[in-house]
Amino acid sequence: MNTQKSEKLFEEAKKYIPGGVNSPVRAFKSVGGSPVFIKKGYGSKIEDVDGNEYVEYIGSWGPHLFGHNPEFIKQALLRAVENGTSFGAPTELEVEMAKLISRLVPSVEMVRMVNSGTEATMSAIRAARGFTKREKFIKFEGCYHGHADYFLIKAGSGALTLGVPTSPGVTQGNASDTLVADYNDIESVKKLVSSNKGQVAAVIIEPVAGNMGVVKINESFLKELKTLCEEEGIVLIFDEVMTGFRVAKGGAQEIYGIKPDLSTFGKIIGSGLPVGAFGGRKDIMEMVAPSGPIYQAGTLSGNPLAMSAGYATLSYIKEHPEVYRTLEEKSQYLEEGFRDNLKALSKDYAWNRVGSMMCMFFTEGSVTNFASAVKSDTAMYGKYFHEMLKRGIYLAPAQFEAMFVSTAHTKEDLDRTIKAHYESLKVVI
Ligand SMILES: *Cc1c(COP(=O)(O)O)cnc(C)c1O
Repeated sequence: MNTQKSEKLFEEAKKYIPGGVNSPVRAFKSVGGSPVFIKKGYGSKIEDVDGNEYVEYIGSWGPHLFGHNPEFIKQALLRAVENGTSFGAPTELEVEMAKLISRLVPSVEMVRMVNSGTEATMSAIRAARGFTKREKFIKFEGCYHGHADYFLIKAGSGALTLGVPTSPGVTQGNASDTLVADYNDIESVKKLVSSNKGQVAAVIIEPVAGNMGVVKINESFLKELKTLCEEEGIVLIFDEVMTGFRVAKGGAQEIYGIKPDLSTFGKIIGSGLPVGAFGGRKDIMEMVAPSGPIYQAGTLSGNPLAMSAGYATLSYIKEHPEVYRTLEEKSQYLEEGFRDNLKALSKDYAWNRVGSMMCMFFTEGSVTNFASAVKSDTAMYGKYFHEMLKRGIYLAPAQFEAMFVSTAHTKEDLDRTIKAHYESLKVVI
């Protein structure tokens, strides 16, 4: 595989951009080697600057439910650009977009558009704090909610100790308002709630975890979490930035039949343009400015290009609910192929899948939370990643990330991937 141009670009990039990339995981640090620079994408494939083509399973980290550059979204964008790129004034499409989101996700009575998933989760926490007049919130170890200071916190040494910043630049003050519980462990949440009685504004959770690899939620845990939040007057926030419109048209909350108070969206909602959204209960959302006192704003929020791509995507989903059956069939096919490979190689690696989000962990036994996920052999994942790449399959360049199937993946793509998976595993294990 010739990657000369990519390597040269990366050397150049490192002089002007920290680490050569605009978001850390792109730099291939956790798998080693030098990242390939992408020139274009079409359907299930991307092509790099050296002309190598890959079948890929990142889809820009989730947004591309229909693969790269589908014709109907491209057309919507071209039509929108004719009328101008931004006005900083309301447009009709924003009203249509808000209506459509609340039809697809019934818990969302009102919604505010923002420009990224990070902005959505940040704003949802502020809304919950403003609404409850409380300051602390609970998150789960291994869940990712963007890079706002108070999310970059890991658990302290004991369940009742203070959180610890995971990045320089995050203050101890920020850390002390973030309480960290264990995913799928209701007792860990109850302990935090009772030792911070009346002080917890919100619980924020990925209803399918997708940022420690893919980890399924235990349904009884989720039900108990909902009940606990109701009893304690805590705002329950589902961070559906990844799962929204991915695992079902109404997100993970549709699958599990649980209504959160607030939800956050991103990724698919912008179909590859920079978009996020937060929304939910009317009594909470009406507290947001300008109808209420909780400040939140954005020069480019509800941007016409972003709205046209997002609206085209969500309209397609509404009119073609069979999309999710197609995704399930393709994903199941891939899962069966991977599982057969593992059996043939006598390996019992953990494999988690919810719809078109999935992940193989290089650890035996089941992965149900952060502690079991981090048992994975990440060095082995790095080798596996490069073997797959050599065979024209582009996966996430890190173990603790999801693999996404799109409607554009053909049976031929999937068969090629299953074959590459077998050959790559044979080399690395
Ligand atoms: C990607 C992601 C975010 C952050 O979104 P950005 O657009 O990268 O800021 C937040 N929460 C979850 C669950 C995500 O997967």
